[in-house]
Amino acid sequence: MSEISRYAPLFESVRIGPVTAPNRLYQVPHCTGMGHALPKTLVSMRAMKAEGGWGVVCTEYCSIHESSDDHPYPFASLWDDGDLGNLAAMADAVHAHGALAGIELWHGGSYVANLSTRAPSFGVRSAPARIDPVQSQRMDRRDIRALKRWHLDAALRARKAGFDIIYVYPTHGYLISEFLSRSLNGRTDEYGGSLENRMRLLRELLEETRNAVGDRCAVAVRYAANGHGDDHLSEDEARDVVAALGSLPDLWDVVIGDYDEEMGSSRFVDEGALEDRVAYVRKLTGKPVVSVGRFTSPDTMLGQLKRGVVDLIGAARPSIADPFLPTKIREGRIEDIRECIGCNICYAHDFRGAALRCTQNPTMGEEWRSGWHPERVPAGTGGSVLIVGAGPAGLEAAHILGKRGYEVALADAEIESGGRVSRESRLPGLAQWARVRDYRLGQINRMANVGLYLDSRMQASDVLAFGADHVLIATGAHWRRDGIGRWHARPIVPLNPSAVYTPDDVFAGRLPGGEVVIFDDDHYYLGPVIAIKLAREGARVRYVTTEGRAGAWSQNTQEQERTQRALIELGVDIEVNVALAAFEESIATLACVFTGRTHAVPASAVLLVTSRVADEALYRALVGEDVAAPPRTSPQSLPASVQRIGDCLQPALIAGAVYSGHRAARELGVIAPARPRERVLV
Ligand code: ADP
Ligand code: SF4
Repeated sequence: MSEISRYAPLFESVRIGPVTAPNRLYQVPHCTGMGHALPKTLVSMRAMKAEGGWGVVCTEYCSIHESSDDHPYPFASLWDDGDLGNLAAMADAVHAHGALAGIELWHGGSYVANLSTRAPSFGVRSAPARIDPVQSQRMDRRDIRALKRWHLDAALRARKAGFDIIYVYPTHGYLISEFLSRSLNGRTDEYGGSLENRMRLLRELLEETRNAVGDRCAVAVRYAANGHGDDHLSEDEARDVVAALGSLPDLWDVVIGDYDEEMGSSRFVDEGALEDRVAYVRKLTGKPVVSVGRFTSPDTMLGQLKRGVVDLIGAARPSIADPFLPTKIREGRIEDIRECIGCNICYAHDFRGAALRCTQNPTMGEEWRSGWHPERVPAGTGGSVLIVGAGPAGLEAAHILGKRGYEVALADAEIESGGRVSRESRLPGLAQWARVRDYRLGQINRMANVGLYLDSRMQASDVLAFGADHVLIATGAHWRRDGIGRWHARPIVPLNPSAVYTPDDVFAGRLPGGEVVIFDDDHYYLGPVIAIKLAREGARVRYVTTEGRAGAWSQNTQEQERTQRALIELGVDIEVNVALAAFEESIATLACVFTGRTHAVPASAVLLVTSRVADEALYRALVGEDVAAPPRTSPQSLPASVQRIGDCLQPALIAGAVYSGHRAARELGVIAPARPRERVLV
């Protein structure tokens, strides 16, 4: 059977209440960091998903009233008719490609602090907001009536804006889930007490939404199939809710109660991990079911359908990494799928209040501002390009320049391509990161105009002798050995050099043993991941960090808690809010970041994860700056352009290196127009 016919079941249409999804590939609601703040950016991004073949494309969480304001996170809003235009533009853009548009109506309840609107927040009882030192107002009957009216008004507006699927959202700790919670809901009226009473609000919202818009729109519910924990909604109760409401919604969009797992990174959660907890829902309802699982493999998707787990394959991250995933499956181009690596950099940027971006897909979020299409690039102006360094920046640049028709030579000193991605993907939990390399290698290996030259260390004279029209330097960066980083502006002194290690030593297989102090002033994954590796190899590891938690930045990628748990379970000693102050003999001196008070700990080695230095010597040699005698042979051999990209330009995330390589390749030979800015103008 050809791949095209094998995957045909994924492209059957599915009736959802009064509307029909053209296929089974469904982009579930996901945050974007764009929301109400960047509507044009958002419309173009969602439209790209529809163009790429997703049968349904949904919004992010869409606030129904000013008492649900998640500032500074840019949520969508439908508070009044003024919001209609932006959302209608999204629905229209999605419809233009034949997809259905879904909208996730949302009230944050006690979770939000309404920092922007300064309206009191509402809760089933007065409870603290997630972050800020405020509590919600306990809802009385009048408030419940008001909430229902806001929900109804928002549903009517959503229909007016052209949406096909309208969500009721009783999950993720937001207002409607507060009512479901046994411990939060202490009401003695008809909305509290028994499960029947606790689900009354959800039932009424489903019924009222259906009555109001059900003639033209499907009503969906986003629901945690395994409940919210025994204190709130137990697994059995969650099942009882599904049984009781079974056919009331037109669609069950099922997730699980633990958000860290539902949206878990590949370090901790596998593809399709929700199946055992969501599979029962379809048996209890006659209505279609959609669920997620970071699905990138069409065979795994088919398996979900065949086993009767779901009717529609839900995706957020896989649709971000590859908006054209459905088209590629439909056309049998499986090897062209740009698979999500599960790094959660997308989510991290929303969490930082910034627009979505993606490690694998550098065009994500650039559809409007930069006019970038994830599959199409403008033809080049002709000529040859030498790229030095085949890490994520160099590989991406080679891929895009190859597509643009340039003659590309990609050289790397190592016998393996991938640079930091290859090195890091050998560390515990990071295997899927190799997809950054593998996708690009797969593409360029099929391009006759791109040559990959491994084991080829290039000096400036080699570059000039090569005679390419353009040169991109993508030589990366290395970790500092002197402790300079966020905390130390000057080298740590004393620092016993014979027992100081960096991540580069670990990559090269030089592992410290004995009592190892890891000093993490970087705060992301690398320090903890190396701690895990060394502890597993038998070292006695003490992880120290200037932050208050292990791998503190990874709270943005939803990995921090699992990271700290993993370290604790491996017996790693964790010391927070301390800096490494000195290391000599077999003693490391740690200093409190608040008082400067020091204490000594035993250490046979220290491993520094502080900051990196760009490997820019080759670039400097070529452009001449700061170099006494640039090794230029003759003026004729000078390339038309020399630029550096990736970590060699700016040590940053892998996502940054891919973006940098992409941008340089796209803009080579082009006078890039000034990018429009989305901003409020008076
Ligand atoms: P980035 O993240 O910017 O892509 P990486 O550190 O991942 O950077 O990759 C840089 C690559 O450049 C490494 O694979 C390294 O072997 C290669 N490299 C560094 N210097 C040279 C050089 N002089 N000649 C060829 N390859 C080099
Ligand atoms: Fe997947 Fe990472 Fe891209 Fe998010 S940023 S979609 S997790 S590859």
